[in-house]
Amino acid sequence: KRKLNENDVPEAVGDKGVKGASGKATFTSLDLDSRLLQAITGEKFAAPTPVQAKGIPLALSGKDVLARAKTGSGKTLAYILPILDAILKRNASANKQAKQTTALILVPTKELAAQVTATLQTFTAFSAQDVRFENISRKEDAAVTRSRLAESPDVVVATPGRATQWLNQDVLQLGELKHLVIDEADLVLNYGYEEDLQGIAAALPSGVQKIMMSATLRTEVDTLTALFFSDGAKPTILDLSA
Ligand code: ADP
Ligand code: MG
Repeated sequence: KRKLNENDVPEAVGDKGVKGASGKATFTSLDLDSRLLQAITGEKFAAPTPVQAKGIPLALSGKDVLARAKTGSGKTLAYILPILDAILKRNASANKQAKQTTALILVPTKELAAQVTATLQTFTAFSAQDVRFENISRKEDAAVTRSRLAESPDVVVATPGRATQWLNQDVLQLGELKHLVIDEADLVLNYGYEEDLQGIAAALPSGVQKIMMSATLRTEVDTLTALFFSDGAKPTILDLSA
């Protein structure tokens, strides 16, 4: 399989790969689970945005991605769709394991956590039986969070602070994690979460796919690289800010 680089857009493949009249990538040309495509159709989006057209194939191929694209460019779906696709594939496999949390989405604020969770809700409308998610960013009784995490939802959305709190109490389990997202990565760092990120990075098993999204990334790139790519693996940088 040919390796994608950051300038590639998905090519049309057979029936599923119908490109729009403009020659631009379409959602159907992205190799996503049909239930996700159904949800996308429900939203009546004309075409993937550039960060989606380039980011989704990279993320689907398992690459680590560090993407910079301006506010409103559709970064949420650029990571949510490939992660949901991977989870649906794994959950459908015959020797399905016990429930595990395989994706952690870190965001700077509980408001953004609520937005991301709403997006998860929308795009799992046709696969709700097969993927579970929980937003644990709110302040709530420990017993409530404990019960929401007891059955290891597939996807957990949290601020780094909450994630750290529950990680330290062994309520949040990251031992089987496969995808880590840091959305608004610049803000996450600028809000003083670096130490929490350090602890989270240390708790990750090997081979976790890392996806980081931001509107602006300057010195933050070095900090993120030091935190999450200290093993020498380097993320694909997708810079669509121009
Ligand atoms: P960002 O995180 O880059 O600021 P969002 O992911 O929040 O952007 O998306 C901004 C808005 O664009 C949302 O309302 C979302 O529903 C919408 N959107 C996302 N993808 C598309 C698309 N492909 N076509 C049209 N609208 C889209
Ligand atoms: Mg965003």
